[in-house]
Amino acid sequence: MSNDLINRNTLFKKMGMNTGLFDKNKTPIDVGDRTRLVLDDGEVREFDVCFKTVNRTTVKTLRGFSPETVDVSITGVFFCWRGNDLLPCVDENGVSDVSKMEVISKYNNNAKPPDETDGLKYDKELYLDNEIYGLDEDFVKRSEKVVKCRKPHECNNCGNEIESGNYAICETGFMYGNPVSTYTCIKCMEEWMEELGRVETGDEE
Ligand SMILES: [Zn+2]
Repeated sequence: MSNDLINRNTLFKKMGMNTGLFDKNKTPIDVGDRTRLVLDDGEVREFDVCFKTVNRTTVKTLRGFSPETVDVSITGVFFCWRGNDLLPCVDENGVSDVSKMEVISKYNNNAKPPDETDGLKYDKELYLDNEIYGLDEDFVKRSEKVVKCRKPHECNNCGNEIESGNYAICETGFMYGNPVSTYTCIKCMEEWMEELGRVETGDEE
């Protein structure tokens, strides 16, 4: 994505840009909002409403034109879900997914953007069981959790300070009878998770 578009997305969020779309409660959907859609099979998806340009989207051409599909670049409103930029589907009755969605949080100008509210890019569970330091048989009764640091800690991996109030992955256990704990910063763990391929980075090749 070009910087220009990142800025436009940020700008539209700040302005509370209305997409012209309404959810099932007739609530206007703005760029930066978060919406929820319950699929026919009961699966629940939550989307970030973004303004961006997506290339290589395949669309059907107008009837009678050939070829039947063509790759295009679309600049507009996308519903972003787990790194995918989605356009709303239309059912057999011509009803768009959008009108089945519900706005679950409005973008708040005074709040940090959603991706900065807690500093976690991925679901919390994904930060666990990645064995960033490998398995050590002398490290017993091991447990691991994502914690919000109440005081600064040093990241065991990069050595940088994890400020209080920030998240970290804390491993505790016993080594040779002594209680031990290690902290790993979110950045290190995310890089490790991406290296392991446990998460989609959203990068296009
Ligand atoms: Zn680190």
